[in-house]
Amino acid sequence: MARVRGGLSGEDRTPGSSEGWNANGEGSGPYDNGGGDDPGWYGNGGGEGPGSYGNGNGGGGQWPGAGGGLLGGGPGRHVRRRRARIAAASVAGLAAAGVLAGVWTAQAGEPSHRTGAAPASSAASGPSSSHGAAAPVPGQTSVPDPKLPAPLVNMDIAHAAATGGKAVNITIDDGPDPVWTPKVLQVLKENGVKATFCMIGPQAAAHPEVVRQVVADGNRLCDHTVSHNTSMDHMPDSYQSKEILDAEQMIEKASGGVKPMYYRAPGGAFTPYSRQIAASQGMRPLGWNVDTKDFDRPGVPTIVKTLKSELPNGPTVLFHDGGGNRGQTVAALKEILPWLRQQGYGFSFPVR
Ligand SMILES: [Zn+2]
Repeated sequence: MARVRGGLSGEDRTPGSSEGWNANGEGSGPYDNGGGDDPGWYGNGGGEGPGSYGNGNGGGGQWPGAGGGLLGGGPGRHVRRRRARIAAASVAGLAAAGVLAGVWTAQAGEPSHRTGAAPASSAASGPSSSHGAAAPVPGQTSVPDPKLPAPLVNMDIAHAAATGGKAVNITIDDGPDPVWTPKVLQVLKENGVKATFCMIGPQAAAHPEVVRQVVADGNRLCDHTVSHNTSMDHMPDSYQSKEILDAEQMIEKASGGVKPMYYRAPGGAFTPYSRQIAASQGMRPLGWNVDTKDFDRPGVPTIVKTLKSELPNGPTVLFHDGGGNRGQTVAALKEILPWLRQQGYGFSFPVR
């Protein structure tokens, strides 16, 4: 199943079933692009890919996942979100049971990736004002395409916590949802936690009051495209930019003028092009390290267990507030957030 993708075409394809099931290529593993931007525990600079868990150059994603390959959702095919997820989830499951474990082990075991050395310069590299020239922003390892708008923020895929140290970034995807997002917000509030919400444009447009509540509570917004097409990295550039920019507008309008600060490709289907387009709008590409797989509703204990076991992967944790009944997610957060505090974790936003 390594054939699935393994760095053949995609980019930072991510793991797991819910967002992921896609492998990635280009070298920036979903679990850490390295990229020097990651001052957190697992960040370590040096070139694209070699994050502690990054796959490095062209090594494909941690999770070769079904991605474009098995999903068959290749170019030109606009997969419907829910269906694709279900199909992908089962495929990813197979993959995870097999080859993926090998990939993971190999990568995680790379001594050079385990030093945890964090680049001193990289913490919280804020938005840069370097317009005009397509020069990399500080700490950036990707080389911007001079024919495209220059990135305003680092265009490498972020995983680290802006605060550095022992912290997690809670990220909540696929909303907003008028039922579940408020419940998630309530749990966050009860625990004094702020999170990053990766929203789907039309849903933001349909529920602006929810978007505004997310913002009012001090959370951050993230662009999660219009259509949630996990094969969008196979689509033409024009499609990718429209997906990103249209969603950005919808979210910004719904929020009352608050811009998304991040861009998370559905399923981690980033491309260098889409990362630069997002970064040119001030949205830092955002990956994740821990997929709780809450999307699959495996049961609250399993979600909690997954989080605990994958936490060593890095600080950015993925949950969902959209795409179906998220009761398990809400219940899991009620357990997880206090537990994280007990363990000494702080809560952060991802680096920009
Ligand atoms: Zn998603």
